[in-house]
Order: sequence, then structure tokens, then C-alpha cells
Amino acid sequence: MSPAPAAPVAASPVVAYIALGANLGELQEAVRAAMAALDQLPETRLLKTSSLYLTAPVGLLEQPDFVNAVASVETRLPPVALLEALLALEQDQGRVRTIANAPRPLDLDILLYGDAVLQTPRLTLPHPRMHLRAFVLVPLAEIAPDLPLPGRGSVSAWLPAVANQGIRRIPC
Ligand code: AMP
Repeated sequence: MSPAPAAPVAASPVVAYIALGANLGELQEAVRAAMAALDQLPETRLLKTSSLYLTAPVGLLEQPDFVNAVASVETRLPPVALLEALLALEQDQGRVRTIANAPRPLDLDILLYGDAVLQTPRLTLPHPRMHLRAFVLVPLAEIAPDLPLPGRGSVSAWLPAVANQGIRRIPC
């Protein structure tokens, strides 16, 4: 029998930024456990993590507040393989997909994958709404304020646009 094919890997490591969120169950524990799990993904190591933040829901408003954070990783997983690994982590945390924006024990999104710009049915990069959400921009600015959003300027330049959205840093 021939050996199983090796997972595809990118030619060189890429820095990717991941948004983490939870609003069902043990929120802080779920986000911290997901950060640790990112470091265990194949071909991937955790670089930086933001503080945890308490944020008001966006979209479907009648649901509990979220705990959100952002992490950066260095990975050799190609973008879709990274997405699949994140979806598997969500499943491990017991996420069941129902309606859009429904409460979830864990939500993981790829915000940026290097400077990749991609629009496919499965994956859009950069994440299309990241520059409009305080729950993404505030933690991202904590770990990478000068990071350029492809075609849009730096992370910190977008902070004033989300200043009216409720977000509070959770003290360590
Ligand atoms: P949700 O978890 O509700 O935010 O939606 C996740 C779905 O959005 C995934 O199954 C992906 O196919 C799709 N998707 C598109 N772009 C992204 C992205 N940048 N990060 C994560 N999921 C994405």
C-alpha cells in the first residue's frame, strides 16, 4: 500500500491573523483554549495573542455578548488548509451551524493571510468585514497597529471608524 499523501504546504511560511470569538458556554476558556490549539496545528506556530475583549453582538442583537481576541500565527498551511483546520477546531468546541450570526461556542476567521487577496466561494481574503468591526480592529491594533490592510491603509487608521462600537478589554 502506498503511503498517505502528505498535506500540502506553502513554499515558505506566511504570517496569518486569526479572529477568535465565543458567546456560548465558558467564553474566556474557549478563546484561550483555541489560542493554544492554534499552536498545535500542523506546520503552524502561534506568534502573538491579543488581550481578550468583551463586545456587544453585531447583526443578530438579541444574543449574549461575545469574548473576542486576535492571534497571529506563522504557518506553512495553504489558505484553504488553514481554513479547514480552523473549522475542525470549531467543531471540536461543539459548534453547530444554524442561522447566520447565531450564538456560537467558538468562531474562528482568517483575517489576513500574508498579503493574499482572494475571493472564492469558500474563502475571502482579507476577511471582507474586518475593517468595519471593533471586535476585530481593536485586538488586532493591540498586536499589529501598523499592519497594512491590502488596499486600505493601516489597522490603526481604521480605529476611528469603529469608535462607536461597544468593546471593553478584559483585565488579565
Ligand atoms: P462564519 O463562521 O459564520 O463566520 O462563516 C464561516 C464560513 O465563511 C466558512 O465556512 C468559510 O467557507 C467562509 N469564509 C469565507 N471567508 C472566510 C475567512 N476569511 N475566514 C473564515 N471563514 C471564511
